[in-house]
Amino acid sequence: MSFDLSGKTALVTGASSGLGRRFAVVLARAGAKVAVAARRVDRLESLVDEIKGFDGRAIAIQLDVTDPDSVRHALDVAETELGALSVMVNNAGMVRRGEAHEMALADWDAVIETNLRGAWMMAQETARHMMRLERGGSIVNIASILGIQGRPWVPAYSASKGGLISLTRALAVEWAPHDIRVNAIAPGYIETDINREFLASEAGQQLKAQIPQGRTGVPEDLDGPLLLLASDLSGFMTGTTITVDGGHTAQL
Ligand code: NAD
Repeated sequence: MSFDLSGKTALVTGASSGLGRRFAVVLARAGAKVAVAARRVDRLESLVDEIKGFDGRAIAIQLDVTDPDSVRHALDVAETELGALSVMVNNAGMVRRGEAHEMALADWDAVIETNLRGAWMMAQETARHMMRLERGGSIVNIASILGIQGRPWVPAYSASKGGLISLTRALAVEWAPHDIRVNAIAPGYIETDINREFLASEAGQQLKAQIPQGRTGVPEDLDGPLLLLASDLSGFMTGTTITVDGGHTAQL
């Protein structure tokens, strides 16, 4: 057994930027055919070209994880174009920062709708495909250490990621008899569009100083955990959350 994903099909949500983009490249380099999905399809073209550049196979699919029709359509297209899905990475996510007592309901709803309800719909539809074809597979949910530790100014985000970690366990138990494994990665602070501004701020600098390894992460730091969970090497792992945070939560 190895990290080799040849012959497998994967779908990555929110693949147009940041971690999702990196995940798509890593899965394709390991041999998977990859459906890269995001709302901004134009931003997926250069990613598809990059993957084709090393003889990988990829297609771009428009996807809004808050829209059930879009979720169904994306999974149908992935299966029709690339074959039965073996790996689905629930990566799409967003954050709204602000003091909890001031946070508008619309901001709460937007974050929960994308990060938790969206991930749930993607997992549910993926499992329906896998069960119909009786093939099993691996679902990887991208949670966050904010689903484990409490921090100010991100109440909806923290709740969504804590919910995603719980959902990971619940679905893992229910779908284990179908050979569908469900695991999560909880990254610490990895510099991308989602937090670049925050990490550059004074509060962000203070936070960096609390990371035992003395640095924030780079997307490449997630390559190993992703390949482990996506491949058969983690065949006896389900319902688990792997933290990748330079020791940040080890201090809790
Ligand atoms: P990012 O903002 O670059 O990526 C998020 C992606 O999700 C974007 O491409 C965005 O367009 C997409 N997205 C948002 N709403 C969507 C929707 N409704 N439908 C489809 N796509 C949608 O940030 P990132 O850091 O790459 O984040 C990727 C994931 O990693 C997120 O779930 C985030 O919460 C999680 N995460 C990131 C960090 C970090 O430090 N960067 C830490 C922990 C968890």
